Amino acid sequence: MEIALVGVGKIAIDQHIPSISASPDWELSATVSRHGSVDGVEAFTDFDEMLEKRRDIRVISLCLPPVPRFDYAAKAIRAGRHVMLEKPPGATLAECHALEALAREHRVSIYATWHSREADKVAAAKAWLADKTLRKLHVTWKEDVRRWHPGQEWIWEPGGMGVFDPGINALSILTEILPVNVHLKSADLDVPENRQTPIGARLDFFHPNGAEVIADFDWRQTGDQIWQIEAVTDEGTLTLLEGGARIQIDGVEDALVSDNPLAGEYPRLYANMAKLLSTGGIDMDLRPMVHVSDALALGRRNAVEPFHE
Ligand code: NAP
Repeated sequence: MEIALVGVGKIAIDQHIPSISASPDWELSATVSRHGSVDGVEAFTDFDEMLEKRRDIRVISLCLPPVPRFDYAAKAIRAGRHVMLEKPPGATLAECHALEALAREHRVSIYATWHSREADKVAAAKAWLADKTLRKLHVTWKEDVRRWHPGQEWIWEPGGMGVFDPGINALSILTEILPVNVHLKSADLDVPENRQTPIGARLDFFHPNGAEVIADFDWRQTGDQIWQIEAVTDEGTLTLLEGGARIQIDGVEDALVSDNPLAGEYPRLYANMAKLLSTGGIDMDLRPMVHVSDALALGRRNAVEPFHE
């Protein structure tokens, strides 16, 4: 299937382009970008022009930040194209609902992707937790913003979500592996005095069976980077490490660790999209986004020292 990529930025170059190139299902047939292009692929700077001139391309993958994404997605759907959305699927929940309704109206597929759900050990964690009695679940997602988001001003602007940009990855795993839904009880947000979005956040969730469910996100982490979820149950403790790449049960590592366990995430997203198209389906699980919206609505804001890159 021919596909067009919109936004040739960090994630497009790191993941989307190599995953499409390596897939037997997909052929990258056009890019739309104000700055970038891909060797041997027709390059457009104007999205409307691409939609008009390349009517043969039925699928559009949007690799833009969340705020500009809605307009592109809505145009693509109105032009009868199927759409794949980077995470988070929009800047607001209402936008995402509107896109889903539009996709239904125009009978096209739309896929809100959550790449971290495709990390190697997430499915194993889900299977293990399915019949356990959860007592405590702690998410620790601490990374160095200067290392992972250099020069990305949009993450500090309204709609950029700040530390929830990586934090939503943890929430996408949490909502996938827990057999029940949780909802936010309270949140604390650390917002730099000179910025619009949080650099740190602590979230406390209600769990229907009374388990303690807490998430701690921080962008001020230097040294070791931590992307970990620990679940304490009556039957043992599960730990997902390195963003879902590794799993331990009671401290014992799963023997089956692949050489590059995160490398499968984006190839799996594109395989999922191919499958979705074959059934004409829609996949818009917005639960990770609900938690972020709730945290931004309910969170107590603490002004913290200004952030300068
Ligand atoms: P980025 O490099 O800062 O931006 C991606 C591209 O979006 C830019 O190159 C630009 O495309 C386009 N863009 C930016 N602002 C725009 C605007 N106002 N209007 C139109 N186009 C605009 O960001 P990224 O890191 O790739 O992130 C993009 C999305 O992927 C985000 O939602 C992020 O959460 C997600 N993501 C990122 C990572 C990561 O490691 N960075 C990992 C997973 C998911 P052109 O210059 O080509 O026009």
